[in-house]
Amino acid sequence: MPNKSVWKRESHTKIVSTAGPACDSIEKLQELILAGVDVFRLNTAHGSSEQHQVRLDRIRAAEKRVGQPVAVLVDLAGPKMRLGTIPGGQVDLIIGDQVTFIRGQETDDPHVLTCVYEPLLDELEAENRVMLADGTVALRVISNDGQRAACVVTQGGTLRSKQGVNLPGVKLKAAAMSDLDRANAVWAVGAGADYISLSFVRTAQDILDLKSLIAGTKSGNAPHVIAKIEKPEALDNLEAIVAASDGIMVARGDLGVEVDIAEIAIVQKRIVAACHRARKPVIIATQMLDSMHHSRIPTRAEATDVANAILDGADACMLSGETAIGEYPVQAVEMMHRIAVSTEPLLHTYSRFTSDDKHPTPGVSPITDAAARSAGRLAEELGAKLVIVASSTGRAALSLSKNRRFVPTIGVSDSLSSLRRMCLYWGVIPVPEAPAHEDRELLDYVIGRALEAGDLKKGDRIILLSGTGLPTSRHNVVLVHEV
Ligand code: PEP
Repeated sequence: MPNKSVWKRESHTKIVSTAGPACDSIEKLQELILAGVDVFRLNTAHGSSEQHQVRLDRIRAAEKRVGQPVAVLVDLAGPKMRLGTIPGGQVDLIIGDQVTFIRGQETDDPHVLTCVYEPLLDELEAENRVMLADGTVALRVISNDGQRAACVVTQGGTLRSKQGVNLPGVKLKAAAMSDLDRANAVWAVGAGADYISLSFVRTAQDILDLKSLIAGTKSGNAPHVIAKIEKPEALDNLEAIVAASDGIMVARGDLGVEVDIAEIAIVQKRIVAACHRARKPVIIATQMLDSMHHSRIPTRAEATDVANAILDGADACMLSGETAIGEYPVQAVEMMHRIAVSTEPLLHTYSRFTSDDKHPTPGVSPITDAAARSAGRLAEELGAKLVIVASSTGRAALSLSKNRRFVPTIGVSDSLSSLRRMCLYWGVIPVPEAPAHEDRELLDYVIGRALEAGDLKKGDRIILLSGTGLPTSRHNVVLVHEV
């Protein structure tokens, strides 16, 4: 534990930051961690695994310098469809224009489009809608003879090479993971990633397949799996997908194209509520502070969006291009942190969820869940200054986190991966190097360092949640200590 305050973090909501060229140096990554980043996302939709490895190494170097655990989330692209190359790089389309999709990648006419997803022509049917470039351009299929699909432009705009293709309402036959996704997942496990997310999840089986791929690597590392919800089919299978996953991302970029954008706020609330019932962490992603790509301050609407996500019950908010390619990555993180600090005190007033909800935490003994609830209640009632949770797998820390108590909570563990996973858990501050196995030793260690740093004073109360006597997977001790 560094010789400075370890739990005087002002906000509880975690921040996920997408790594990219705007934060490629170890120094910049350090700045981002100090500004409040808990989890770095490596987006495998862009770049090679060699580039991801370089970024991951730098994140670990920055983590070491700052002396506080940081999680790495490797994001798999899944069956993302993109346009091929457009002759001249781009084409302007207006309503009523005709464009044609053909097989293969060869085209010398900007109105004749190709798609990197080879079976597209097998799947398109007359009247299907095709959304391009994040939904800014829309087409309607007129006919498809298997070699050429003729479409009419129903919403005009500019199309560029490699932009995204979405087919809202079309049940794609594409596999959940491409060969590249599989290779990236195997790389991520070997490279020590803490989380792997999968894009365009449609069923719980997609997640189970990724989990068995991870288990099949027989590596000592078992990253937790996050399902990105961005397809209407995923919403149809939401409860099962949430149950199969270790966490959820509300991936609003593609979700806002695949479902009616007018419904996106309601869909977000529905997903967060499902995660709350299942006690899984949920990340709200995309365009949270979008204007900060090029501006030092966000729009009023963006600041309100982050606050509302927190009030909805988000465990974490995510920055995408803002930190990956934006001009103000550190300011974006600082802003997200400041919004969290201002908003969280209102959680108890505005949130639909209460600390006393008794949903079971998966993989956690009911004894641990009940002890965690009691620890949180005791801490608030006794005005405790700190809760310590000793958690070998991190699950007890998740149980505490989901109770949304406001007493500062530190997580200790003998496993560095568990500590890093706690980086995504609302309100839990992972503290490395603490003796997690023996209660007395742990208390002495934490109190010693806290007195030195001025975090605690004589008479302050501390709550310790740990397991003893029984198998360590059960937390059967709630200890109240007065310094
Ligand atoms: C999204 O679609 O919102 C998302 C997070 O995925 P990506 O950034 O990979 O498009």
